[in-house]
Amino acid sequence: MADVVVIGAGVIGASIGWHLRRLGVRDVLLVDRAAGPGEGSTGRATGGFRAQFSTEVNVRLSLLSREKLLRFQEDTGVDPGYLQAGYLWLARTEEQLSILRDAQRVQHRCGLHEAVILKRADIARVNPHVRTDDIVGAAFCPTDGYIRPLEILRGYLQDANVRWNAPIAAVRRDAVALADGSEIACGAIVNAAGAWAARIAEVPVTPLRRQVATTPPTDVLPPDTPMTIWADDGFHVRPRDGRVLVLAPGDDAGWLDRMRGLTQKRVPPLRGVTIEFGWDGLYEMSPDNHAILGRLRDDLYVANGSSGHGVMHSPAIGQLLAELIVHGAARSLDIHALRPSRFVEGRPNRAPDLL
Ligand SMILES: Cc1cc2nc3c(=O)[nH]c(=O)nc-3n(C[C@H](O)[C@H](O)[C@H](O)COP(=O)(O)OP(=O)(O)OC[C@H]3O[C@@H](n4cnc5c(N)ncnc54)[C@H](O)[C@@H]3O)c2cc1C
Repeated sequence: MADVVVIGAGVIGASIGWHLRRLGVRDVLLVDRAAGPGEGSTGRATGGFRAQFSTEVNVRLSLLSREKLLRFQEDTGVDPGYLQAGYLWLARTEEQLSILRDAQRVQHRCGLHEAVILKRADIARVNPHVRTDDIVGAAFCPTDGYIRPLEILRGYLQDANVRWNAPIAAVRRDAVALADGSEIACGAIVNAAGAWAARIAEVPVTPLRRQVATTPPTDVLPPDTPMTIWADDGFHVRPRDGRVLVLAPGDDAGWLDRMRGLTQKRVPPLRGVTIEFGWDGLYEMSPDNHAILGRLRDDLYVANGSSGHGVMHSPAIGQLLAELIVHGAARSLDIHALRPSRFVEGRPNRAPDLL
């Protein structure tokens, strides 16, 4: 018997468990089918952190997470590696720039005043390593940057009670059923099964494969080079651990050649540097690219569908779901926009694909 069973011990489930314990829930059990930490999407994440989103709820999730990242080491004893290197979004058309500008109005309303629009001539000040002759302007936020997904997971798993190698086959009222036929009775259940969440309960989450390409060790981009994203095609470039990572949506046969071509064209210092396939993993997509957070029914709660932002939002999501379970409502933030019922109500969040 457990007070709460959390299905999935990735960064979201681990954060929920940690926050439940902090709110005084004594018997929290995390169950995961993997043999150990980091085998799901969390171990595949590149570790970007941004508050530059286009909807209020996403900006606020980031701001709450940022506050918590800044005291993460004090809270957990683990350094989350939060490096404020910034996120730079490059626009190649006035239309893209205007979408970035609209998003920035939302960000400013939420208190993210340091996010600014840059003219082309000013871009080199924050990232001198990229070509800007076909860029009309950019959005930049200096407090965005990088985090270390596996360290955040490690911090939240400290002192956690986790049962590994325990695939959950079904969720019942007041119990979860394991694949071996045994059951664990519990007061509440949380679905934190990441890209596989729809197999646990009726949440509209679909897996989306994302790939990362990487250079060999190189120092051509300093470690504090901002995450740089071309807004039109989502091509990203960033340094990590003495290499450079490049990525963009897609997993077709021509993807790697495309990454090589775009890198050569857009990042002159990387010309002649080898680009190879690095790794892949799954995003956990919801229909409107926003997390699905709340009570689904009875004592079944969901924390799913972060749509590729789950590591950066995990500190906030863990706190909010724990508040919901313990107090009956999320106290730190209004999470109405993330309610599971929004899709059947026909009221999804609306955001441009760009960010
Ligand atoms: C290439 C790539 C880059 C990314 N970059 C970023 C980034 O820069 N910043 C960012 O914030 N996010 C990023 N993400 C997204 C991020 O990885 C996810 O949003 C986040 O890890 C989701 O956390 P989670 O705990 O929900 O999922 P997971 O880490 O996948 O955890 C889910 C757990 O559930 C377990 N599980 C599943 N089914 C069952 C079952 N039936 N029974 C028991 N256990 C089960 C799994 O074993 C797994 O451990 C990236 C993802 C990828 C693939």
